[in-house]
Amino acid sequence: MTVNLLDFDLDGLAAFCDRLGEKRFRATQLFRWIHQRGVSQFDGMTDIAKSLREKLGSVACVKAPAVLVQNISSDGTVKWLFDVGGGDAVESVFIPEESRGTLCISSQVGCLIGCRFCSTGHQGFSRNLTVGEIIGQLWFAEHFLRQHQGTHERVISNVVFMGMGEPLLNYESVVCALRVMLDDHAYGLSRRRVTVSTSGLIPVIDQLGQDLPVALAVSLHASNDILRDELVPVNRKYPIAELMQACRRYLLVAPRDFITFEYCMLNGVNDSPEHALELVQVVLQAAGTTTWCKFNLIPFNPFPASGLTRSPSEKVLQFLKILSDAGIVTTIRKTRGDDIDAACGQLAGDVRDRTDVHKRIARRRTIMVKSESVATLPGRREGVSG
Ligand code: SAH
Ligand code: SF4
Repeated sequence: MTVNLLDFDLDGLAAFCDRLGEKRFRATQLFRWIHQRGVSQFDGMTDIAKSLREKLGSVACVKAPAVLVQNISSDGTVKWLFDVGGGDAVESVFIPEESRGTLCISSQVGCLIGCRFCSTGHQGFSRNLTVGEIIGQLWFAEHFLRQHQGTHERVISNVVFMGMGEPLLNYESVVCALRVMLDDHAYGLSRRRVTVSTSGLIPVIDQLGQDLPVALAVSLHASNDILRDELVPVNRKYPIAELMQACRRYLLVAPRDFITFEYCMLNGVNDSPEHALELVQVVLQAAGTTTWCKFNLIPFNPFPASGLTRSPSEKVLQFLKILSDAGIVTTIRKTRGDDIDAACGQLAGDVRDRTDVHKRIARRRTIMVKSESVATLPGRREGVSG
């Protein structure tokens, strides 16, 4: 059985080299060849002794998941469907902008959280991705894009865990992949430019703050617990007020001085002026100010099974104005890659569901989500699990 070197951070690779009787600086050399130069054949690693290259050839490999489909949008967005074996596939999206290039990557095949408005959630869950499968998405995309654009310069400046899956439910592998992304001998990305997006698993947010604080985005999508319980079921375990306090704690160690809240605008569900006013109260109650977070309003990307529709742009603008007037920096996410289904929440991949999540959602799908405008926030409901 060969070992995939994409599964290692630098310490892991050094331990592997040690087992082969090689010094740590060999690991650094190897790491640079793999991640900075995109070389996967040991023969091409010319400053490594021939004997070691031969040894590596027999025990190790550098293997990213194979590309099943590649789509390039008219706006330059690129989407890849990667084969991760056993009938499972995950997606990554590259979004070029003037001053940066962002790669949106997946952390799991499917997702257990089961949000109402998310096509990944509707597909159920198969398994966690390995470190090599997570970092392999970046390794492949970065070196493919460099070749495609005829450059030796870095193309991907930002990485966001906003593809398929809940990254904080695959914690160990995600943190190991983060270490590779941040390592100067690999991609050298700044902590501020790597964003973990989560549905709000409070204990793991705290853990990430201790282990490796990178930029944090929290998928809020509702202004009160009754509504959020419906939309993001994990809220039943980790309600809004407690989630806000976890975000405040994270800020003490975060590389940025704000938390981003993602808010998917669902027509007639969570998009009224009352919801916006209620959100302002949630933010104020948590900290006494509105300057510690930003809101990113995401136009809902519909898919047939959701039974939901996108809020009209007038409503989104009205919502934005209420938040902005209260002093909250608010943006509307530009929809990119529409023509190749590469927008948020459309990343479906292929999931061999090993759980009953999709059945549970299918049952809930028939229940219409009511628009709520509850002024007071219920406290924590003990003993309810998500
Ligand atoms: N599981 C993590 C990260 C992946 S989802 C999380 O939930 O944060 C990335 C973002 O896409 C989340 O904010 C999610 O709520 C949003 N999203 C999911 N489905 C969507 C849809 N159909 N339209 C728009 N945004 C969606
Ligand atoms: Fe999972 Fe995030 Fe989709 Fe919710 S929005 S089902 S947490 S991937």
